[in-house]
Amino acid sequence: MRERFEIRLDRDFADSKFPDISQPLSDITSRMVINSDNPDYSSIINALREYNREKFLGFCWIERYYTRSEMEKAKLFNLIIKPTSTFEPDGEDCGTIYDISGKCERCGAGARQMSDLMLNTRTIPKGKDICRTISNEWVISERLHRLLIENNIAGFEAKPIKHHPEAPHSVRLKMTETGRELIKMARMEGMDPNSYKFSRCLQIGELHEKFNEMIDPNSYKFNRWLDEPDHEAMFIKALYEYAEKYEKRYGPKSVEMASPWRQLTITSKPVELTNDTKYGIIRDLKTEDVCPYGHALRINIATELYVHKDSWDEYDFARTRILFGFNVHGCNGPPPKLFISPKLHRLFAENNIKGYRVEIAHLV
Ligand SMILES: [Zn+2]
Repeated sequence: MRERFEIRLDRDFADSKFPDISQPLSDITSRMVINSDNPDYSSIINALREYNREKFLGFCWIERYYTRSEMEKAKLFNLIIKPTSTFEPDGEDCGTIYDISGKCERCGAGARQMSDLMLNTRTIPKGKDICRTISNEWVISERLHRLLIENNIAGFEAKPIKHHPEAPHSVRLKMTETGRELIKMARMEGMDPNSYKFSRCLQIGELHEKFNEMIDPNSYKFNRWLDEPDHEAMFIKALYEYAEKYEKRYGPKSVEMASPWRQLTITSKPVELTNDTKYGIIRDLKTEDVCPYGHALRINIATELYVHKDSWDEYDFARTRILFGFNVHGCNGPPPKLFISPKLHRLFAENNIKGYRVEIAHLV
């Protein structure tokens, strides 16, 4: 196995410490790549680890390459969906319903998906069989789904995905009947919605909250007024009216429909990583990197993954119990690491499945 380590560094720092092996990317950033066949590989990573105790150095990652015989002997593979197979908008933005009442306040784990996954399937990368949204919802092609069924692959479910266009993020109040009514009411109560630049394109959700803090007092007043229950009900009605116009404008393709894509969920028993798995390539695992409720770790992994062999039920698809990342994008929460069996890996390779790479995982 050969490792390739890559890091982004502050340019001044890179120029002073590693002038020969770093390359400038811009005025402020440098890039450094080291392969494990370089005799200084470990000492450079250890030096970075030392420096990183003083200040944050930058994002880094390791890729691993294997010989054919290493691949043939492997008992388990860590399945990595490639960055080029990642897409947006995520399920939530396309109308997927999540129950977030059980969401962990620390790491964001614990949301439950309550509806079929809705996606704008036109945004799924072309020519791929396995993809993920930026919120780690996993998507497989109909071709891969058929292969999994025909080959009796175990440990997964492939649920339907509905095509749904991206929900419109803004409502132009003046374009809807209820919106115009709202503007009239606001005027009668002495407010001037026209002075409020967002009255023409009022942002909802998170942005709405942010604007509440940013905008001038008069606009703020209009926003607060919109938040009152009666006005809010009308505002939501205006939102629906606007959505209807949006669908008319973008044609029948913009309405919800069945799609050939499937949502991949893993149903096998979650596996446990052993202490052979080391965390933090250039830094140590700190208490604040561990969710106190035991859901997730917020640190990258320095080694290949080592799995307790008794925790794996030998199904072809598996995932870790522990999740990775705190409050990652979207409702879905931090993702686990994924695994595939040698049988499934062979099936992927023989059928030229696109969108993933693997690293060897070890059973101990
Ligand atoms: Zn948590």
